[in-house]
Amino acid sequence: MGRKHKNSCRKKYQSREIVRYVKKYFAKTSSINIVDYHFEIKQEVVEALKNNAQYEGYEICGVLTGSQVGENRYRISKISPPCVKKHTRCGCERDATIANKFIEEDYEQSEHTRFYIGEWHTHPENNPRPSFVDYSSIKSTYQTASLVVPFLFMIIVGTQAFHVNVYDGNRFVEVNLEIV
Ligand SMILES: [Zn+2]
Repeated sequence: MGRKHKNSCRKKYQSREIVRYVKKYFAKTSSINIVDYHFEIKQEVVEALKNNAQYEGYEICGVLTGSQVGENRYRISKISPPCVKKHTRCGCERDATIANKFIEEDYEQSEHTRFYIGEWHTHPENNPRPSFVDYSSIKSTYQTASLVVPFLFMIIVGTQAFHVNVYDGNRFVEVNLEIV
């Protein structure tokens, strides 16, 4: 979903399949203030994301799981392998079956401490910026997926940098992740 396809993809947008695995326990109408939250990412996840960077050709995509590590403190702990259903002209369509399997297995392996916390995908650009489709896709997933936490990460892996933001149901906020 690189910027070069931005305009041509506006009309082509279709909702991605959704990820479901645990009952949500918060009201999606409740508003949270992202600035009150602290976010961490494990070093090994950063390395894995870098290893998935795509310099040319098709984009790839997958999901992220994480856990709560303190009050208003969350950590991105795991990255799924690429969950690609098909490559489209507008980017990468996620395979919900592969993504759900990863999420469910990680949930069990972690004794129910790690849960679905966001999405990752690649852009073949140095400093990636989200496309219209990227924003729409996260909003749609937020509304339809069963979430444990009232936010979703969007991480875009560029060739030199990541773009990281969090959607809280109202807005997207760029955040800094502490690497642990
Ligand atoms: Zn994109």
